[in-house]
Amino acid sequence: MSNILTTSNGNPVENDQTSQTAGEWGPVLIQDFHFIDKISHFDRERIPERVVHAKGAGAHGYFEVTHDTTHLTKAKFLNKVGKKTPLFARFSTVGGEKGSADTARDPRGFAVKFYTEEGNWDMVGNNTPVFFIRDPSKFPDFIHTQKRHPQTNLKDANMFWDFLSLVPESIHQVTILFSNRGTPYGYRHMNGYSSHTFSLVNEKNQVHYVKFHFKTAQGIKNLKANEADALASSDPDFATRDLFDAIDKGDHPAWNVFIQVMEQKDAKSYRWNPFDVTKVWPHKDYPLQPIGRMVLNRNPENYFAETEQAAFSPSHLVPGIDVSPDRMLQGRLFSYPDTHRHRLGVNYQQIPINRPLSGIKNYQRDGFMAVNGNQGSGPNYGPNSFDGPQQNNIYGTTFVSQALQGETGRFTYALTDDDFAQAGTLYRLQSEEEKTDLINNIAGHISHAKKEIRDRQIAHFKRADPEYGQRVEDAVNNLVG
Ligand code: NDP
Repeated sequence: MSNILTTSNGNPVENDQTSQTAGEWGPVLIQDFHFIDKISHFDRERIPERVVHAKGAGAHGYFEVTHDTTHLTKAKFLNKVGKKTPLFARFSTVGGEKGSADTARDPRGFAVKFYTEEGNWDMVGNNTPVFFIRDPSKFPDFIHTQKRHPQTNLKDANMFWDFLSLVPESIHQVTILFSNRGTPYGYRHMNGYSSHTFSLVNEKNQVHYVKFHFKTAQGIKNLKANEADALASSDPDFATRDLFDAIDKGDHPAWNVFIQVMEQKDAKSYRWNPFDVTKVWPHKDYPLQPIGRMVLNRNPENYFAETEQAAFSPSHLVPGIDVSPDRMLQGRLFSYPDTHRHRLGVNYQQIPINRPLSGIKNYQRDGFMAVNGNQGSGPNYGPNSFDGPQQNNIYGTTFVSQALQGETGRFTYALTDDDFAQAGTLYRLQSEEEKTDLINNIAGHISHAKKEIRDRQIAHFKRADPEYGQRVEDAVNNLVG
């Protein structure tokens, strides 16, 4: 193909630098298609930014099975040690806008699209094993408090702590967020977690509950608050640059992948509700079992085409990996594809970065940007007598029935001491230096909130661990006098 500049319909362009005018002093002509083609495309360059996880960086790589899990799952991409599956991973901050600093105190998104032979499996997690809330009804409210005040358009410590102190099941995630893990040293030195509980389903359709853990092979490395603040002004794209440069020079980051496995029958009697995403499963109860390794070895060729248009959803599942009753997961199963339809259009799965390598055959047709040939001349309805794709009739392909009982209703989680216990454990397992950083990080932020809000939150820290709460109170008093 020649290297001659063209219009979007492929006509050669004679002059790209000078618009057509009516004489030397006259107005620009509407007949100048090339100019209008160029400027009108530019006018439409931005698509809606993700409402959360707007700022991110991604890379291609692969997953390699290192341990046999066929007794747990029939997922074909996991059925042989040594098997490799291509993937695309995207890391992100959560609350900030697309141009915000990479080093902000925030959880980090950790999303991976596995292009398996049975379609795509997306593992859409965070760098934290838990989350702030456990009911999806609270999600829009929670995110609003992480964004900007409706009047001032500023981040607002009162909004932030008001909500968290009124929703105290957040304390565990708050403790992680204000530890130095809330400001990781880029994306390579952090772990990823499914956070939610999922189900693995084996060939006999037996179900085990699991959590996925991606442990960084680079080692955990965090920024102290002053380092993160300094980078926010000197190199706000620090994490994006760090990931790109490492891969570019052949230093391919890797994560060792583990699962925790719970027998289905143990779920009811376990001391924590295993579907409550504000809780972990302690390792001593459910040890990490290795399953594989993820390696990132290729940078995107084009940021927008690949990283920006990547559309992950926890509802993109393969046979052998299924959902659980985790309410936050249930809410996300709907919300993620919904936001992609809004952001990228109803045919978002046809965009090359999202397209399953194993192909698509169905009766979906038309809609904006149907760019895959629209499945040609094949029948557009089923059942049909014209050799269209057919269901496989294999029970358990995409879900396994699970026993339910009771009546429909709105069942509020009762707040108990258990909701504070794991935050207390996390506080106590930290070194003295880490505790001091945690306390100072919290005090520096919460001291901007009103006294009544501070006091309510400090009471929660005390309930997690009396020393933890007392130290936050003392540090705040030092700051506000
Ligand atoms: P263990 O005593 O077996 O191990 C402690 C865990 O804490 C390690 O996974 C460690 O991660 C992690 N950790 C250390 N510092 C922080 C921090 N600032 N923020 C988040 N995680 C940190 O853990 P248990 O399973 O008995 O759980 C104890 C506490 O550890 C939990 O309450 C929870 O807060 C935290 N935790 C537990 C996880 C789990 O799935 N069980 C996962 C992550 C954290 P690393 O191995 O990378 O050093």
